[in-house]
Amino acid sequence: MVIVGAGLAAWTTVRELRKLDSAVPIQLVTRDHGDFYAKPTLSNAFGQKRSPDHLVTTAAATMAQNLGITLCAHTTVTSIDAATQTLTVEHGGKKEDLPYRQLVLATGANPIRIPMRGDAAQAIQSVNHLDDFRRFHAELTALPVRVGGQPHRVLVIGAGLIGCEFANDLAQAGYAVHVVDPASGPMAALLPPAVGEQLRRALEALGVVWHWGVTVQTLQGAATGAHRYVGTLSDGTSVEADAVLSAVGLRADTALAILAGLSCDRGVLVDAQLQTSAPGVYALGDCAQYASAGGRTLPYVMPIMNAARALAATLSGTPTDLVFPLMPVAIKTPALPITVAAPHPDTQGVWTQDPATEGLLDGGAWRFVDADGAQRGFVLTGKQCSKRMEWSKATAP
Ligand SMILES: Cc1cc2nc3c(=O)[nH]c(=O)nc-3n(C[C@H](O)[C@H](O)[C@H](O)COP(=O)(O)OP(=O)(O)OC[C@H]3O[C@@H](n4cnc5c(N)ncnc54)[C@H](O)[C@@H]3O)c2cc1C
Repeated sequence: MVIVGAGLAAWTTVRELRKLDSAVPIQLVTRDHGDFYAKPTLSNAFGQKRSPDHLVTTAAATMAQNLGITLCAHTTVTSIDAATQTLTVEHGGKKEDLPYRQLVLATGANPIRIPMRGDAAQAIQSVNHLDDFRRFHAELTALPVRVGGQPHRVLVIGAGLIGCEFANDLAQAGYAVHVVDPASGPMAALLPPAVGEQLRRALEALGVVWHWGVTVQTLQGAATGAHRYVGTLSDGTSVEADAVLSAVGLRADTALAILAGLSCDRGVLVDAQLQTSAPGVYALGDCAQYASAGGRTLPYVMPIMNAARALAATLSGTPTDLVFPLMPVAIKTPALPITVAAPHPDTQGVWTQDPATEGLLDGGAWRFVDADGAQRGFVLTGKQCSKRMEWSKATAP
């Protein structure tokens, strides 16, 4: 069995498989180091003063030894021949063929790059892997101390979930943070407007400066001024910054699957048993688009845990349909803790606040109700986040 990738999806699949089958030979091929870390910690590490090295919980070699697998780190799968069940891999400039009986694609996603003009456009960073975070962390920690001890400024492009988490984390760590987004409030696609407004104010209280309804058009090196770069926004205003982080979203990494002729849409299409359009080839994690989720991609931790369990059962001889439970996501914005169980994007309905929480200063609860009166999603804030279990029970998945 060959697994491509060494993120949460790959390692969790191996762990679940080993619970069911201690003997099947498993080879894990990954283009990165393979070290195990929890990706969600990347967006709250600055506030906790955790360096990139401290985020690694288990080294790749130890993972491989404990789970009894063969690890091929720093090795890229360049093609898949599903007819002959062979992979081509590249390591250190050398290519080699690798046969498989069952293949699991866990190739994750890539940050979306927005077109940007200006001589400093290449300085824009995004953080989706530990190595990205290493680069971003190195850039910020290498900045020379500013005159008068003024804080360094970070420009965050995108006020979605990851942008807001980084804005909170960097502001908490003492950076001056500016956030630019074409929407009119934070996480506009995910939150009811009233909660977005609370989050806006909570982050503003930490010093975050928002630029709504605009995009960054150019990024230039600053010839003069207090900061290294100057961004020009679509309304003509300028924002100076010492570092720029793009958090405008992720796109499933389907490159390998497309090359192999597998059916792909917004992700690698998988059926209820996580099989792709090629027999014996499976996919899960950020790269997958799940039939079991009504054709959605689900780039979060809980879907991966559920998918890995079902896949391990199928791979070890018990074909198992994946059934996703309701999977609320805890958003790591300590300025306003939020738990979201988002309704399916196609569901028509309205958000209303639970009257029992109206006027409470320490948190609130909102339910999304569809046209038939069924609760299809919810958002909890502050202290109400502790009621996630009871709200989950009351919500149709
Ligand atoms: C900053 C941040 C914070 C987050 N916070 C949360 C959170 O709080 N809660 C939550 O639920 N979710 C969160 N998420 C999402 C969650 O972390 C991801 O859904 C999950 O980690 C994705 O795991 P994965 O294994 O599918 O992909 P990845 O971790 O991206 O792993 C992909 C692997 O595939 C390898 N690979 C790709 N192509 C090839 C190839 N051709 N050959 C060999 N190897 C290849 C890569 O090297 C990598 O090892 C967060 C994400 C980010 C970026």
